[in-house]
Amino acid sequence: MTKARKLDGQAVAAVMREEIKPEVKAFVAAHGRPPGLGIVLVGADPASQVYVRNKLKAAEEVGFYADCTYLPETATLKDVLAEVERLNRSSKHDGILVQSPLPKAMGAGATQKVFDAIAVTKDVDGFAAESVGLLSQNRPHLVACTPAGVIELLVREGITMAGTRAVVLGRSDIVGKPMALLLLHRDATVTICHSRTPDLAETCRQADILVAAVGRPGFVTPDFVKPGATVVDVGINQVTDPKVAASLYPEGHPRFEGFKTRGTLLVGDVHPSVENVAGALTPVPGGDGPLTITMLMKNTLLAAQANVVATV
Ligand code: NAP
Repeated sequence: MTKARKLDGQAVAAVMREEIKPEVKAFVAAHGRPPGLGIVLVGADPASQVYVRNKLKAAEEVGFYADCTYLPETATLKDVLAEVERLNRSSKHDGILVQSPLPKAMGAGATQKVFDAIAVTKDVDGFAAESVGLLSQNRPHLVACTPAGVIELLVREGITMAGTRAVVLGRSDIVGKPMALLLLHRDATVTICHSRTPDLAETCRQADILVAAVGRPGFVTPDFVKPGATVVDVGINQVTDPKVAASLYPEGHPRFEGFKTRGTLLVGDVHPSVENVAGALTPVPGGDGPLTITMLMKNTLLAAQANVVATV
């Protein structure tokens, strides 16, 4: 049985970061300062702390100026908006990112209010209503990093999108919807599926390109996949239940043995057995994940280049 070709996000991300470095040097030479990224982190969520650390490290590695404002769990929405406003006015920050989730106490709708307060020219996460509006009209400025990374990966791996049928499984504002728009703008015929979609497996099986962004370990099984299709697994799920781990990998498989040692396993939304049906597949880890932070770096560079043009 032929196994699916691996779409190596790690390798593409490494190439892209090398491409960014000389552009940063040229920017510094021309403008006397590096592109700047300002991050805001509210509270002490451990996962968010790791994400922010990784973003700061990546920014430093490509030569950006980057800093993070740490606000306490007790910060109010007004405090966060004031910080965003400060960064909007700052001449050394070209990109702004507010790490989500915000503390629940801030109330429903707080996260979107904060995203919408970020100047569209600095919205490197692409989550503000104006950024999403521009994307929907196919005149994007800065696009959400995870779906933009998927497109970058497909382009660089030579996967044709124009004229294909694409199915996006998941309709979140940060992944599913922008993913569908990006594929549409690449001339794919796009279907978006969600928890109320009837005949889910059958619909997904129509896809030449299937993007899974569900947040459920191993949800996409071989019966969801047309033979030879390209499958992009956006899911990042931490499995701690031995039964779930055993449903994904057989006893003796290196990943299952790793789970037995560590008690945790990082898996996507696509079942590993899909590699026996798909033509190309992104692994987890190492598929789309590494591209998300790389696209954040690319967006920050783009924002810096556009910001200096705008202020000349
Ligand atoms: P989300 O906001 O929870 O959205 C999940 C989507 O999946 C929803 O649209 C939901 O449908 C749909 N869904 C859930 N259960 C389903 C079912 N049984 N059948 C059909 N559809 C179902 O998640 P997200 O933020 O988009 O993230 C999705 C995955 O991507 C997660 O694993 C997340 O960790 C990962 N992720 C990865 C990156 C990265 O850097 N690579 C970045 C962001 C997210 P409804 O709308 O009907 O509820």
